[in-house]
Amino acid sequence: MLTLDQARHQMLAQLSFPSEIETVNLQDAANRTCAENVISPMNVPSFDNSAMDGYAVRLRDLQQSLTLSVAGKSFAGNPFQGEWPPQSAVRIMTGAVIPEGADAVVMQEQVTVNADGSVTFSELPKPNQNIRRIGEDVKKGEIVLPQGSPLNAVSLPLLASLGIAEVKCYPRLKVAILSTGDELVEVGKPLQTGQIYDTNRFTIKLLLEKLHCDVIDVGVLPDNPVEFENAFMNAQKQADLVITSGGVSVGEADFTKEVLEKIGEINFWKLAIKPGKPFAFGKLKNAWFCGLPGNPVSALVTFYQLVQPLIATLQGQKQWKKPPHFSAITLTNLKKAPGRLDFQRGFYQVNAQGSIEVQPVGFQGSHLFSAFVKSNCFIVLEQARGNVQAGETVTIEPFNHLLD
Ligand code: AMP
Ligand code: MG
Repeated sequence: MLTLDQARHQMLAQLSFPSEIETVNLQDAANRTCAENVISPMNVPSFDNSAMDGYAVRLRDLQQSLTLSVAGKSFAGNPFQGEWPPQSAVRIMTGAVIPEGADAVVMQEQVTVNADGSVTFSELPKPNQNIRRIGEDVKKGEIVLPQGSPLNAVSLPLLASLGIAEVKCYPRLKVAILSTGDELVEVGKPLQTGQIYDTNRFTIKLLLEKLHCDVIDVGVLPDNPVEFENAFMNAQKQADLVITSGGVSVGEADFTKEVLEKIGEINFWKLAIKPGKPFAFGKLKNAWFCGLPGNPVSALVTFYQLVQPLIATLQGQKQWKKPPHFSAITLTNLKKAPGRLDFQRGFYQVNAQGSIEVQPVGFQGSHLFSAFVKSNCFIVLEQARGNVQAGETVTIEPFNHLLD
């Protein structure tokens, strides 16, 4: 049996960076990965401007007198124009151009306006006070967004603020999904004895949409090698990644294996994790291939732990990072046999003392989603660990956006 880390490592090590690059407008680039080091074409701010509403002054004028006349106005979008006579200040608003020669802005709250329209300052301001200098935020020629960055609600507005209308990014990932099993029936149709609803295709589609993939839904395949081969061949022509569920466990493995060996190079792994033991990964002629276990909880856990990093890498994201794990106190005993890494479904919260507490939810052996619905984390119990007593420290992995 392979550990989860070994499987993830072997899988990610085989992947190459996406080779295709598209140049698209910012709107279409949303939720993709940046494929270039984006260089700023300008300074930000692009001119010296005021950080306050107040008065722009020259220190040498104030050294002679703390009372100055007002020579004019500089508003955002309407700079002060004309001569700036000695012994005068310029009324200025936030974001307005600093008049040439000014070396400080004094906020209006610190200034007295006299009856004759002149203004009196209480003290000498500090040089550069309240002036935002050109290039202070971003310098022209600087890398503002490195390759591999996510293009999202903070990075895309940054590019927009620099007047950049298009960006090089990796194409959206096309993923074909199909379920296998004679027992599977499409949701909405009546069930005959021995049949069950196809939940995996529904789950996987929703997860892929959350990961911003384009989904090609191939449907349900009966357990028939000819149908398998045709469907796999068609799917890999249209998609970058083909994901199937079912048919990778011991009973059917040889059969799926036989078909996949003919048309690709697939590893059939027995993972030392629970739930989710069987998992297939490899390459068809034109697409990557993942075979998830049929049990819906196992399919979801293996998708979460293995397919998620696979997709991130194929989307061009920089080095996949392990999700954060925390220590928590379990409030109840946990049943666990040594031998596999266990992902129990749990609910955690922070108690009044600020410590994290967790408890398992629902029946852990269940192949149904009932426990998942009430949970907000995995309780990750180490491979060698046995039963856990209430009060012991355990590791939790809070669900990320995939399951919220
Ligand atoms: P398999 O991996 O094909 O042996 O399936 C393992 C278990 O998961 C069996 O009980 C299947 O009926 C069930 N199963 C397989 N595919 C699905 C699916 N798409 N939706 C719900 N249950 C499934
Ligand atoms: Mg099956």
